[in-house]
Amino acid sequence: MIDKEKIRQAIRLFLEGIGEDPDREGLRETPDRIARMWEEFEGMRSFDMKLFEEFGDYNEMVLVKDIRFYSLCEHHLLPFFGQVHIAYIPDGVICGLSKLVRTVRAFSLRPQVQERLTEEIADFLEKELKPKGVGVVVEAEHLCMSMRGAMSPGHITTTSALRGAFLKDMKTREEFLKLIKGV
Ligand code: ZN
Repeated sequence: MIDKEKIRQAIRLFLEGIGEDPDREGLRETPDRIARMWEEFEGMRSFDMKLFEEFGDYNEMVLVKDIRFYSLCEHHLLPFFGQVHIAYIPDGVICGLSKLVRTVRAFSLRPQVQERLTEEIADFLEKELKPKGVGVVVEAEHLCMSMRGAMSPGHITTTSALRGAFLKDMKTREEFLKLIKGV
């Protein structure tokens, strides 16, 4: 549960801590804005995963490329963002494409690390769709690296999580990786 009052107090203290005056005009509303923003994020974390079960004959790979996402690294609370590519091989059940987008958003809008985000999306889809396999690849730029100059700006980190056929069957995995590279 989001405790807006706690967030307000914390942001006010944080601003004081970095030598700002939390009562100056531009900052006065900031603690409340941030509290309301997190409440909004929380609201986007749960959704109804509607499944379609009339696709028993379809057992080719379903692939959605380039789902934009924005998340926050839990070490610095700075954004990391980029694209998620999701593929699965259905076992009689598919979901609407928008639900894949909602899934990505649900796991992005919280303090995260890219590796866990990737795994959580794969685990969730495995649990909900019970597919023959699922593959998730996340490509992201981390502002905590880019802003501090620890890595060249624009540096992309790639993570992947493979389940079922994507793990066991080399051909499936290769097809997936080929498709997301667009060659
Ligand atoms: Zn970080």
